[in-house]
Amino acid sequence: MKNDRRIQVLPENVANQIAAGEVVERPASVLKELMENALDAGASQVDAEIVGGGKTLVRVADNGVGMSRDDALLSIERFATSKIRAPSELERIETLGFRGEALAAISSVSRFHLLTRRADDLAGTEITMSAGKIQDVRDQGCAPGTVVSVRNLFFNLPARRKFLRSQQTELFHARQVFILYALSHPDAAMSLKVDGREIINLPRGSSLAQRLAELYPSSCRQALRPVSGASGPVRLTGYASLPTHIRSDGSEQHFFVNGRPTAAPVLAAAVREAYRGMLPRDRYPLVFLFISMDPALVDVNVHPTKKEVRFHDPSAVRNAIIQEVMRAISPAGHEGLPAFRARLTPAASPGQGAAFSKPGAQRVFDGLSLPSALFRPGPVQPVGRPPSTTTTPPAKNEIVLPSLPQAAPWSSVRVLGQVYGLYIVMETDEGIVLMDPHAAHERVLFERFMAQVAARKVQSHGLLLPETVDFSPRDAQALRTHVETLKRMGFGIAGFGGDSFIVDALPACLSEVAPARLLTDLAACLAQTGNKADMRLLLEEQIAQAACKSAVKAHGPLSPSEIESLIGQLAQTEMPYTCPHGRPTLIHISREELDRRFGRA
Ligand code: ADP
Ligand code: MG
Repeated sequence: MKNDRRIQVLPENVANQIAAGEVVERPASVLKELMENALDAGASQVDAEIVGGGKTLVRVADNGVGMSRDDALLSIERFATSKIRAPSELERIETLGFRGEALAAISSVSRFHLLTRRADDLAGTEITMSAGKIQDVRDQGCAPGTVVSVRNLFFNLPARRKFLRSQQTELFHARQVFILYALSHPDAAMSLKVDGREIINLPRGSSLAQRLAELYPSSCRQALRPVSGASGPVRLTGYASLPTHIRSDGSEQHFFVNGRPTAAPVLAAAVREAYRGMLPRDRYPLVFLFISMDPALVDVNVHPTKKEVRFHDPSAVRNAIIQEVMRAISPAGHEGLPAFRARLTPAASPGQGAAFSKPGAQRVFDGLSLPSALFRPGPVQPVGRPPSTTTTPPAKNEIVLPSLPQAAPWSSVRVLGQVYGLYIVMETDEGIVLMDPHAAHERVLFERFMAQVAARKVQSHGLLLPETVDFSPRDAQALRTHVETLKRMGFGIAGFGGDSFIVDALPACLSEVAPARLLTDLAACLAQTGNKADMRLLLEEQIAQAACKSAVKAHGPLSPSEIESLIGQLAQTEMPYTCPHGRPTLIHISREELDRRFGRA
């Protein structure tokens, strides 16, 4: 008789191995699942151990509720979970786990050992498995709680084992996971042992601030500003770094949604937005953001690793992040930064004004203040980097900019002059400050211009002689696409046949610029932006950035009164420390730094 059935249901251990492909990528994923289970079990002590980058061993011991023998045997079955019972509960997940897959998946691709006891049981249960098959189950005396040991990950799937990276790299990833969960549960004591040596030991009952202090170098922490507030259904707490303290990658941007470490494109995009106009391209601030909201408003069941979530109302989350992070990092309301703004108005007195213009004379600005250490360069050893002997990951990801303001206001500033026809040199009681007048001027113009744009009150300045400007086909196309926005922003511009345009007005604050050059620069910028800038504000900011850059291109030596007024104007900006493209406007060398360099202890 012909066999009509070619399809068969896979044996369970094969099914588990297939599922493991999604849940278990590397030793770090094992550590993640085990730590989640420990925390879901209410543990107040979680001890992790890694050997051989986790390829040899990943072990997590906890003092949580433990399991009965029956539960222990069920826990290693697929889709066996104590965390949800009815489909409706999927809508409001409050635990880290809920899919009931992790232990089944992990035990199918390793040598697996589980030891568990509930506090009230006389004996615990020990289960030994290999490649998904139970080898031994017995009673075993042990402390209340659970210890899961995962050895030789992927030993039965050589093709996957081969794809694991070096021990150093795997350890790096595992350590990142450990740090994430340590941050998400600062109240629990946690330790991490690597190759027999305890490298992290965190006490119980910490606050987030204390846990950050336990894990991050102080230079890094000092740049962090607290974030705290609510907007609509979203509550936000945590920390965000000042725009002067940034990295060349996003690896220190951490988001937690209802306590769960989370990635979602909307989160990183919102942070980017909050820092817009303050950061260079491809630079990332440090953020630790805890988002709390009704669990019914978040879908965590998007991916087997539960790493990504989906928000029912992403724009509410986005707005909350933008609003609260901007508030946290804005100069107003924070020590160190606001002083600059509040007190920089020069105390002009006629006598000093005259002295200022004489060669070698100095003008004293009373009551001037700036954070003293703002631009002091100081490489920061970020947490979670593998030791330097490693070949991966590359060192280019080090923290790139200097650290942070310590509140130490200047009481006065003397302008000493301009060097190379460019940089302004100033002496303060705290040290020497160099100002790049282009960057400073760009910042001043940009904020002035954007304030008008935002208020929809751009003053336009008619040109005496309208000018026709020719563009390349690409640039002309870019201008045509955005001509309405440009008009709204005070540019009187219209097509003049072919790839030519006629300009008869400019925004008043840019009116001193040659129209042809301004538009050529703008068109080039817009052509590069393409249609990516679909959001109005983003587009407007880009236009303003390009325009202001173009406007300050030509600058010769400045007169003392020009310098003075520039300092005063810069002091009144929202973000005096960087130009709109993120370059610094001021560089500070402290008195101590000078003394140290000259060997005056
Ligand atoms: P999930 O966490 O999604 O429920 P797992 O496969 O990770 O699925 O775990 C299955 C079940 O085993 C859990 O629901 C929990 O009841 C139990 N369990 C796993 N780890 C522990 C632990 N460390 N302490 C107590 N119970 C645990
Ligand atoms: Mg789990």
